[in-house]
Amino acid sequence: MKIAVIGLGNMGAPMAANLAAAGHEVTGYDPVARPSGLTLAASAAEAVAGAEVVLTMLPDGAVLRAVAAEIRPAMAQGAVHLDCSTVDVESARAVAAAAGAAGLRAVDAPVSGGIGGATAGTLTFMAGGPEDAFAAVQPLFEIMGQKAVHCGGAGNGQAAKICNNMILGATMAVTCEAFNLADRLGLDRQAMFDVVSTSSGYSWTMNAYCPAPGVGPESPADNGYAPGFAAELMLKDLRLSQQAAEAADAETPMGAAATDLYATFVDEEDGKGRDFSALLPRFEGRGRR
Ligand code: NAD
Repeated sequence: MKIAVIGLGNMGAPMAANLAAAGHEVTGYDPVARPSGLTLAASAAEAVAGAEVVLTMLPDGAVLRAVAAEIRPAMAQGAVHLDCSTVDVESARAVAAAAGAAGLRAVDAPVSGGIGGATAGTLTFMAGGPEDAFAAVQPLFEIMGQKAVHCGGAGNGQAAKICNNMILGATMAVTCEAFNLADRLGLDRQAMFDVVSTSSGYSWTMNAYCPAPGVGPESPADNGYAPGFAAELMLKDLRLSQQAAEAADAETPMGAAATDLYATFVDEEDGKGRDFSALLPRFEGRGRR
């Protein structure tokens, strides 16, 4: 397949490399030049000419809208715009509608699995868009990932991603505060893990990504809280969840509390550049307010 990849950052570059390694004809474009081993174009419009699939992996909805407007006139009729960035639901739906009006097809397919998953080709994709477009890019999901779930129409991939990550952020926050409470009650962390991980409080954050160093399976806590999944990326996704909740008139008190907590941690404290599980040492250093 002839594929263009636009946005060759931490995620886009290894995803493009995996597509090229699988034998696809990949042309990349990014305004910031870095060695990638890929065939590069001089502009996004040049990269997409003749491509059957255009994959974008961009920072946010505003950049996605701008890039989509630039590439639409240059894309071949019927080609699929596969956006794997994490963006707001509204931007995903607007980009899909404009693509449809221009005779193109669009799939929003944000990922989970991070840079490690992008490099290893083990990402999970949550996709929104028409069935035929999903089917057309399914072979690419199989190269870049291990699982792709078709969640419905345009924007539903983004909807699934932010709902998942709102659960993740709120759950990590309460897992960290529970460890800190346990410390102060004189409860050993290993005992706490042994009970909770096999009781009704269990969760992915406790069982698979335990925020306490030396407890549970290896996690960023065992590596000085180097990310992993950086607190500022969690904050981005939590803010998108609140933007969507506002637009949909959905009450999300726990999501809102997690958003406020991560905003304080990242914007006012030392959270930036640390794993999102570093809320635990944050709580350790503070009393009740
Ligand atoms: P990144 O900042 O490393 O890469 C984004 C790239 O987009 C950069 O190389 C930038 O130069 C390029 N770009 C900016 N403006 C552009 C334009 N107008 N045209 C073309 N390229 C442009 O970010 P990343 O970590 O690769 O993340 C990309 C997306 O994936 C984000 O939406 C992020 O939320 C999401 N995501 C990231 C992770 C992660 O662990 N890094 C995990 C899941 C999802």
